[in-house]
Amino acid sequence: MPPFRFDNTYARELPGFYVHWKPAAVPAPRLLFLNDALADELQLDAAALRSADGAALFAGNALPDGAEPIAQAYAGHQFGGFSPQLGDGRALLLGELIDHGGRRRDIAFKGSGRTPFSRGGDGKAAVGPMLREVLIGEAMHALGIPTTRALAVAATGEPVHREVTLPGAVLTRVAASHLRVGTFQFFAAQGELDKLRQLADYTIARHDPALAAAPERYLALLHAVAARQAALIAQWMNVGFIHGVMNTDNMALSGETIDYGPCAFMEAYDPATVFSSIDHGGRYAYGNQPQIARWNLARFAETLLPLMADAEDEPAIQRAVAQVTGVIDEFPGLYAAALLDGQRAKLGLLKAMAADDAADRALVQDWLALLHARSVDFTLGWRRLADAADESEGRDAPLRALFVEPAALDAWLARWRERCARDDAAGGPGAGERAARMRRASPWVIPRNHRVEEALAAAMSDDDLMPFERLLIALRRPYDEAPELAPYAEPAPAEATAGYQTFCGT
Ligand code: AMP
Ligand code: MG
Repeated sequence: MPPFRFDNTYARELPGFYVHWKPAAVPAPRLLFLNDALADELQLDAAALRSADGAALFAGNALPDGAEPIAQAYAGHQFGGFSPQLGDGRALLLGELIDHGGRRRDIAFKGSGRTPFSRGGDGKAAVGPMLREVLIGEAMHALGIPTTRALAVAATGEPVHREVTLPGAVLTRVAASHLRVGTFQFFAAQGELDKLRQLADYTIARHDPALAAAPERYLALLHAVAARQAALIAQWMNVGFIHGVMNTDNMALSGETIDYGPCAFMEAYDPATVFSSIDHGGRYAYGNQPQIARWNLARFAETLLPLMADAEDEPAIQRAVAQVTGVIDEFPGLYAAALLDGQRAKLGLLKAMAADDAADRALVQDWLALLHARSVDFTLGWRRLADAADESEGRDAPLRALFVEPAALDAWLARWRERCARDDAAGGPGAGERAARMRRASPWVIPRNHRVEEALAAAMSDDDLMPFERLLIALRRPYDEAPELAPYAEPAPAEATAGYQTFCGT
């Protein structure tokens, strides 16, 4: 096997934050997916990994030299209720590699068997949900959204028992780190102040090294995490991504999207959209995601307070509370600014003077209200708007065709064109270039729920990976309006979307 050049800082520097553990042996490893481009990024030999040895490795039967598998401890608020001990119940961190860009990346298994954190679970994962994680994660990556990625999926040859019996699999996940809000909550809940400080300093060294010498470094860390989340959630919102289970253990401090379970993309625009079968109250509905991110950040802030002020020193505590509250209160503004930046790109507008923010926000709100009122497909609506920018080709017919009754749209288009004309009068890009830029800000292809399900069904029931592979090719070039990708751009029939439900895959 070609070498993995592991350098395992988490295992080395944070004893007491995990348990050493081994993946379970499985009967019949078979490689279902290998991410060649990601393997290259990690300076791994993709060709060599496509062998029987590679399958054994990615199924957990043969560890690469230098791997030090550990199950990490963490806690978390799940649907608002605190669980003091979660931890890696079916995951193991193998170690860290430095990629060709000099970035440190975690290499971890998911579905590699029971650990001391498994509680009632079997520690296993099924082929379908693991291939689903590949599809959605690669789509997010191609859309330019920070995300963990799948390096490989290996079938285990072992049945996994859920409501029905399913073929088992192990996914190898690559992440900037697996530090979560829940990791801090675990040690805060235990009152382990020294460990908490060690964890915070480790997080700063790993993700925000410039803050190590900052006078109030824990406050600065909170701010950095909040800024990354604001940017991330804004990107989710602008492509219609619904995470589905934004528990605090599923919020990564790196700012990457993590833990692909019941996530899915919205089709017809409706802020109340929920797909997850267990999200009865709609806590994690599309439109709630920004508030939930803020709520999670407040839970993170609480864990930092004991590091910022001595528990006996009441005035110092008051001051620390005021400081972290200031950051949490800043979050909506950070998010709104990031959202508007993305929306302006999608509207083909140049960043205006601050004085224009309110008018541009109203413009985008009115556009979204039109999509909502007419149940227009979010992705196609934006994409056809890009085409409509290209006046020289008279191309607003496809956009108008999405609306049953386009009169309200026409009034809005007139307002939008006037705003575009103002940009152009001030040296803006002009219609053709605007349309091209807008098409780079609004994808044509997203992981449509019916396409994802179709690909997974073929993989699971017929052992046919072709639909999965073809869909993956389309998802990796989301902005190209190539004729052969047309089947992937079509919305699902309304009946299919109306009752669509996703599951945690546990
Ligand atoms: P998740 O909903 O995937 O974020 O998982 C929440 C918690 O449940 C984490 O501690 C997981 O490690 C654990 N968990 C999820 N599925 C399983 C499983 N099949 N076996 C054991 N633990 C699991
Ligand atoms: Mg999780």
